[in-house]
Amino acid sequence: SREWHLVARPHGWPKPEDFALREVAVPEPGEGQILVRTIHMSVDPYMRGRMNDVRSYVPPFELDRPMEGGAVGEVVASRSDAFKPGDHVLHGLGWREYAVVGAENAVKVDPELAPLSAYLGVLGMPGLTAYAGLLEVASFKEGDAVFVSGAAGAVGLQVGQIARLKGASRVIGSAGTDEKVKALVEEYGFDAAFNYKNGPVAEQLKEAAPDGIDVYFDNVGGDHLEAAIGALKVHGRATLCGAISGYNDTEPQPGPRNMIAIIGKRLRLQGVLVRDHAAMQPQFVQEVGGWVRSGELKYRETVVHGVEHALDAFLGMLRGENTGKMIVTF
Ligand code: NDP
Repeated sequence: SREWHLVARPHGWPKPEDFALREVAVPEPGEGQILVRTIHMSVDPYMRGRMNDVRSYVPPFELDRPMEGGAVGEVVASRSDAFKPGDHVLHGLGWREYAVVGAENAVKVDPELAPLSAYLGVLGMPGLTAYAGLLEVASFKEGDAVFVSGAAGAVGLQVGQIARLKGASRVIGSAGTDEKVKALVEEYGFDAAFNYKNGPVAEQLKEAAPDGIDVYFDNVGGDHLEAAIGALKVHGRATLCGAISGYNDTEPQPGPRNMIAIIGKRLRLQGVLVRDHAAMQPQFVQEVGGWVRSGELKYRETVVHGVEHALDAFLGMLRGENTGKMIVTF
């Protein structure tokens, strides 16, 4: 069984030498555990933070140990009454071909209901982040004009479409290639979109949302956040979900220069952590699952094949090579 270990803590952009794909014996499940063969694993931006040796809302990856992350697989051996061989489960021990998982840390998933990879994306953690971050944290209401950055990614693509389906007056997105921008408008129903690499974000946002915005869903931080503070209307709300533009920086980014506008406009900027919103899971699965089945909400995956290419997939995601959810299929 092959598994990816972190062997050195990256400084700035991760380098291939910071990781090693190692061959180990297939582990044996103990009492109350299951052995799972990975089918798909997720690569997510937050994993970059776990490579640093800093205390955060998740502990850092340990050196010379397999990395972790969302994965779905097939149970091949079980020493738990809750699972039998052939069951499919979602768990948190990705980055390896075989995982021994405590039964309490595995959730059964149904491949008849949705393709297994969907449980890592549209119906999984990123999907719930979009749903709860927009509807609960940003207190979205019908008629709001919504701007989302990282709009062609897993979370962003869903934020924009949920906003449209819930009656937004205008949905604006930003992304890093002209092709993604075109797809946002032509395939995913955004009213306007722009490529943040083509010019200053503040100017492009002003053009896309001349009347301002009510809600900003921030996936990237940096100059996007500053531009959004400028564009938000009185009593506007922002969900701070991620700040990927700074994840590989070696120095903290400067803050938005227009913080004072928060006072005059009485803005609310609030962070979100998806794990706080587990109570919304049933409502999320029912509503978003319904939209996916009816075709009203489209989702997309960028799939990289082979455990040996998992690191390429992770680094590619950080560089923007994905549209929608980046998935590694073993
Ligand atoms: P994505 O699928 O959006 O993939 C990451 C994307 O980030 C890339 O495709 C790339 O697209 C974009 N990107 C990379 N560098 C930059 C940059 N310098 N400026 C702007 N965009 C950049 O990932 P997710 O949907 O999984 O995650 C999106 C955000 O949400 C991340 O910040 C993540 O940390 C956060 N998140 C937070 C959660 C929470 O609980 N708070 C839970 C899940 C995700 P492009 O081509 O457009 O540059």
